[in-house]
Amino acid sequence: MQQEIQLQLSPKDAADAATIQTELARYLAVQPKKISGFQILKKSIDARKQEVKINLKLRAFVDEAFQEIFPPEFNFPDVRRSKNRSIIIGAGPAGLFAALELILQGIKPIILERGKDVRERRRDLAILNREGILNEESNYCFGEGGAGTYSDGKLYTRSNKRGNIDKILQLLVQFGADPSILYTAHPHIGTNKLPGIIESIRSQIIGSGGEVHFNQKLTDFSIERSLIKSVKTATGDLFEGDQVILATGHSAKDIFCLLEEKNILIEPKPFALGVRIEHPQQLIDSIQYHCPVWQGRGNYLPPASYQLVDQVNNRGVFSFCMCPGGIIATASTSQEMLVVNGWSPSKRNNPFANSGMVVQVELEDVMKGMRDKVEDPDRSVRRRKTSERLVLHDFQEMVERKAFASGGGAYVAPAQRMTDFINGKISNSLPATSYLRGVHSVDINEVLPEFISKTLREGFKSFGKKMKGYLTEEAIIVAPESRTSSPVRIPRGQEKLHHPQIKNLYPCGEGAGYAGGIVSAAMDGIKVAHAIQATHQ
Ligand SMILES: Cc1cc2nc3c(=O)[nH]c(=O)nc-3n(C[C@H](O)[C@H](O)[C@H](O)COP(=O)(O)OP(=O)(O)OC[C@H]3O[C@@H](n4cnc5c(N)ncnc54)[C@H](O)[C@@H]3O)c2cc1C
Repeated sequence: MQQEIQLQLSPKDAADAATIQTELARYLAVQPKKISGFQILKKSIDARKQEVKINLKLRAFVDEAFQEIFPPEFNFPDVRRSKNRSIIIGAGPAGLFAALELILQGIKPIILERGKDVRERRRDLAILNREGILNEESNYCFGEGGAGTYSDGKLYTRSNKRGNIDKILQLLVQFGADPSILYTAHPHIGTNKLPGIIESIRSQIIGSGGEVHFNQKLTDFSIERSLIKSVKTATGDLFEGDQVILATGHSAKDIFCLLEEKNILIEPKPFALGVRIEHPQQLIDSIQYHCPVWQGRGNYLPPASYQLVDQVNNRGVFSFCMCPGGIIATASTSQEMLVVNGWSPSKRNNPFANSGMVVQVELEDVMKGMRDKVEDPDRSVRRRKTSERLVLHDFQEMVERKAFASGGGAYVAPAQRMTDFINGKISNSLPATSYLRGVHSVDINEVLPEFISKTLREGFKSFGKKMKGYLTEEAIIVAPESRTSSPVRIPRGQEKLHHPQIKNLYPCGEGAGYAGGIVSAAMDGIKVAHAIQATHQ
């Protein structure tokens, strides 16, 4: 007999299979030897009360042989002879999962990626972190696996389409992720493990007859009778396919400009902007797990995370992409523009806890006078003739340029103690930080637009009340966190999902405005692949 049971155990007991078995036997009122084994179906931490507990949903095998139930394996057909070919621009989660789904549907994917493969990309990251030299085509956002490759690999999404989420997680496990992502409440993979998984996905795509081309940046496409005929890359190569999936991510500013130049409809999209904040991990553990800092969280709890949200004068301020045990990284893609983000290794074993802390930016906030403030003369001239469609994008660039200049160059970041930021005082000294390029003490209030810094200051005060100890001079803020999502939406139809003007162009993933995060981008890739498959029926 198999029975599903919920148990609540101490972190220590929940880490020990023999204790779980004993507790199951007690719960079921049977001899422990009657239970041949169990499988974890769900695992979450309940830290609401003083004593932290682990909630487990288990499948117990009673009086029958234990048989682990594995997730389904997907069998990928060979598509090299397929008559249907789709070109995918961008090998991020959206592009890669679109490719996998197209193969499952019998369609040949041809991926064009501007960056390098995961291994070569790692070298460019090392140069950036060590020497402050940015490769505009190969960095934390561009290259195989997209922005999600050298990330924390958090796999949460606000979407509640359980079947679709399960499919993404099952595919990730099939390509090498730890099966625990299938049952933990807040799964994550880690920077050290993600590249191997991405390589396995690429091997599957190529092994099934798909194509993956690196160093192939889309620079143009030809359109005939409302259809893309061919796409052209920076090398001058031309590629043809029945459809083009545009999955270029939120940092492909050149793509937004290309669409704008070609009079292909794009729209400004509200996003969020702010800073990354970093605390000692032990402090966050002590707040979240109600333990003294000196005692620590013990051996059985993971580094604690948090999620904070508030409204200040009707404007949202919230934590974003929290990385326990993580590192703050330079996520820039353009020279002399600074953006920070965060990542963690699978063990999340660095001594710092960082998180984005960002403020909602609406079109109305930046509309007035924005285009005239763009500092890049060539681009501003070109855009001044155009509409307001790139105004939020230009605003983002302006903040990133200012932050680069404030840091003093070479991707050194402007920073301030959280308490000094609230009091508008330049920090005399800065706390230790994980940010590898180093920090420069400035008043961040001067770096960020006033409406952002004002909202952030109030937000921090409110978060200090929600999480006692959070508002501390031990916390450092590093600016700016400006790529929370795309500042542009590329419109598409609700059902058929193609662009309203170009019938075989499929905007997809985060850059097009249909996802925010690894799982939702992957889900959108699958959704677009289904829409394409429907056109072949
Ligand atoms: C440092 C960091 C940490 C993050 N951590 C997390 C996390 O823990 N969890 C989470 O859910 N999300 C995280 N994110 C966000 C997440 O990575 C993105 O939401 C997700 O990758 C978006 O997927 P995408 O496929 O839509 O776009 P992207 O991942 O941005 O992929 C777009 C791809 O298109 C390529 N491309 C761009 N322009 C062109 C062109 N012209 N021609 C050809 N190719 C092009 C790019 O090189 C890139 O590979 C993180 C992001 C960063 C930068």
